[in-house]
Amino acid sequence: MPAQHIDGILLSQQLRADIAARTARLTEAGKQPGLAVILVGEDPASQVYVRNKVKACGDVGFHSVLEKYDADLSEAALLDRIAALNSDPAIHGILVQMPLPKHIDPNKVIEAISTAKDVDGYSVLSAGELMTGLEGFRPCTPYGCMKLIETTGVDLRGKHAVVIGRSNTVGKPMAMLLLQANATVTICHSATADLGYHTRQADVVVAAVGRRNTLTADMVKPGAIVIDVGMNRDDAGKLCGDVDFAGVREVAGHITPVPGGVGPMTITMLLQNTVESAERELKNQR
Ligand code: NAP
Repeated sequence: MPAQHIDGILLSQQLRADIAARTARLTEAGKQPGLAVILVGEDPASQVYVRNKVKACGDVGFHSVLEKYDADLSEAALLDRIAALNSDPAIHGILVQMPLPKHIDPNKVIEAISTAKDVDGYSVLSAGELMTGLEGFRPCTPYGCMKLIETTGVDLRGKHAVVIGRSNTVGKPMAMLLLQANATVTICHSATADLGYHTRQADVVVAAVGRRNTLTADMVKPGAIVIDVGMNRDDAGKLCGDVDFAGVREVAGHITPVPGGVGPMTITMLLQNTVESAERELKNQR
């Protein structure tokens, strides 16, 4: 029997409806959630991403600010803007779109964002909060993957999860979230000797590589949950993931498609983190 599709579009709609309801309550209490998005330079993909983020903010009733700067903006000027947004009471989340121009150190920029407004969850402090199980913002893509896995109803306790990829923004936080959910976690990467050996033992596989056909049917345990984070192009230029979807869906129990799986969840979890940030602030004020 082919795998059940995990529908990221439907889940996103459900979560965004909940976020919109929470936003309405916060706005009534005088605490409309606000997200600031900063874009430096003219990278075409980044322009699309920030446009989508700002539109999503409007759809759920957020206040949003889009600050666009020329590629020659100095690092000091960007840090000044972040400092101003850190103390702006109308802003609960700050997002600086990556990549930044080469003369700006992305780590300095990420660390300049107040932890209370780090809704991307990329700072060292946010990573430490995740690592130690403290309350904090979880990076949006892995956070979204966890929500997708939850829809299967499968309890992760005692299950074996394999994460392919170890980036700071996807692979590593993904592994931490799976560990927190009591899975036994293996992290694979480009130096892993026999990827299939690991994935064939996995009840859950999360592929976050950026190379199509990394996970094929012969590498998957029957009935496994397969989450495809990858965003690649096939020979016809169509968007595809890291997973050979046609083959793997014949073996897996649940699978996310690309597009329509992880993609829509990333912005949704950014909204979720921002609404949580505003709720926390309101709670602390009371
Ligand atoms: P990244 O920083 O390039 O990391 C890729 C990881 O894959 C690295 O850890 C690398 O290992 C590993 N890798 C490369 N070749 C491999 C192989 N043959 N076998 C096993 N592991 C291998 O990428 P990322 O930022 O994590 O993103 C991964 C993918 O997800 C990309 O396609 C990206 O576009 C996509 N993405 C999608 C969303 C979304 O919203 N849908 C969000 C974020 C990212 P090493 O560490 O050893 O180099």
